[in-house]
Amino acid sequence: MKQITILSGKGGVGKSSISASLAVVISENKRLVAVDCDVDAANLALVLGIKVDDFEKYEKISTNEKAVIDPDKCIGCKKCFDSCNFSAISWDGNSMRPSINEFGCEGCGVCTLVCPKGAISQKKIFNANIGYAKTRFGFYVVSGQLNMGESGSGKIVHEVRALGKDLAKDTAAELIINDAAAGIGCPVIASVVGSSYAVLVTEPSPSGFSDMKRAFEMVDHFKIKSGLVINKHDLNPEFCKEIEAFAKEKNISLLAKIPYDKSFLEALVNLTPVAVHNSKIRPIFESIAAKLLNELEFSD
Ligand code: SF4
Ligand code: SF4
Repeated sequence: MKQITILSGKGGVGKSSISASLAVVISENKRLVAVDCDVDAANLALVLGIKVDDFEKYEKISTNEKAVIDPDKCIGCKKCFDSCNFSAISWDGNSMRPSINEFGCEGCGVCTLVCPKGAISQKKIFNANIGYAKTRFGFYVVSGQLNMGESGSGKIVHEVRALGKDLAKDTAAELIINDAAAGIGCPVIASVVGSSYAVLVTEPSPSGFSDMKRAFEMVDHFKIKSGLVINKHDLNPEFCKEIEAFAKEKNISLLAKIPYDKSFLEALVNLTPVAVHNSKIRPIFESIAAKLLNELEFSD
C-alpha cells in the first residue's frame, strides 16, 4: 500500500485544498483513502463536503491517561508535588494535601511511581474522536479530532492512520493520501513516517520558504522522496525562483506552480474541492496527479 503525505511547514498555504483536489482527481484512476492527520484542526472532510451526519463511524478513543488521587490513602508527604515536571499538581498548605490539574496532567505516571502509599493511579481518558465517511467522489475520508485542552496529537495521528489503513484494506485501495498538520512537530512526524512520498506545499514568501525547508529536512531525514508544489507562485516571481533553485539543488521534483486564484477561497466557502469548483484549475491537478503516480511507479 503506497502512502503520499502532503505537508507544508507553514499553515495557510492551501495544503488541504490541494490535498482534497488531488484526492478527487487521483481517485478517478486509483482506489484510495484520504486521511486527515491534522487532528488539532481537522478540515479535510469539510473541504470534501462531508457534514457531521455523514460519518458512518465516529467514536471516542483513548490514547492518554491522567493521574487520580485517592485522598483516603494520602499521608501528605508532598513527594508527588515535588516530582511533577509539568506543574500539574498543586499543594494546599491548609489541608496539606495535593490536587491534580487535569488539563496540565500529561499522564507521565511519575507521581504514581513516587507515591509511598499507592494513593495515585492513572486513569484512561477519552481524549479524541475518530471516524470515517464516504465522500460523494466515491472514496472514504478518515478524520480525527483531539478534544479541547487535551494532549497527545501524535498518538491520535497514529490511530487515524491505522484506521485509514484498515479502511484501505477493506476497500482494496491502492493508495492512502495523508493530509498533515502545519509545522514539523510530533503530529507531523507521525503523519510522515512510513510514507512512500511527500508533497511539500509552499508559497513564495520568506516564512513559507523557511518552513518548507524545515519540512524538507524532516522528510529527508526519514529518506522519503519529495516533490514540491508552489502555490500562488505569481504573487512573488523573484522569490519563486529562489524556491525553485533550492528544489533543484536538493533534487526535489517540481510538481506544479499554481497561480493565485480566488476560486480557492470560493471553493472552501462552498465546501467543494477547487478542482471540482473551477474546471479551469482542474488540469493543474491532473498534471500533478500524473507526475505523482509516475513518481510512485504505479503501473496502469
Ligand atoms: S501523571 Fe505526570 S503530569 Fe500527571 S500529575 Fe502525575 S507527574 Fe504530573
Ligand atoms: S505522594 Fe502520595 S502520599 Fe505523598 S502527598 Fe502525594 S498522594 Fe499524598
